Amino acid sequence: MSDLRDLYQEVIFDHNRNPRNFGKLDQPTHQAQGVNPLCGDELAVYLSLDENERITAVHFEGRGCAISTASASIMTETLKGLSLEQADSYFRAFHAMATGETPTQTAGLDLSKLEVLSGVRDYPARVKCATLAWHTMQSALHSHGEQVTTE
Ligand code: ZN
Repeated sequence: MSDLRDLYQEVIFDHNRNPRNFGKLDQPTHQAQGVNPLCGDELAVYLSLDENERITAVHFEGRGCAISTASASIMTETLKGLSLEQADSYFRAFHAMATGETPTQTAGLDLSKLEVLSGVRDYPARVKCATLAWHTMQSALHSHGEQVTTE
């Protein structure tokens, strides 16, 4: 079990040092800002959807702790190429995983990359760090980009 934890730590550090899809997106179709005042995490999520409502690009920028940055980075890798409906399914599954519930309706989802963040369920303050990018993505897609705050 501790080997697995070490591996997870390593993946999180790697994404934090080297965030994927970092930086503003040119002409995003959807965007939102999110803040987690408790930790000081701030980020913006940018998405581009094509005419079939498929996500063609996801970027993020901002600053925050290793967990929030790694989670945003992994999220961008997860969502690229998905439909809106699939993105919502991943959001629900990840949210359940991070809050310690058993994800339901996971058919067709590959949660292996998200699993590295599941350890936050034991640290309630960290759950907000891990889910910030995901809530921000949901706001960008469904709430006209209203700013998200975890408090
Ligand atoms: Zn944080």
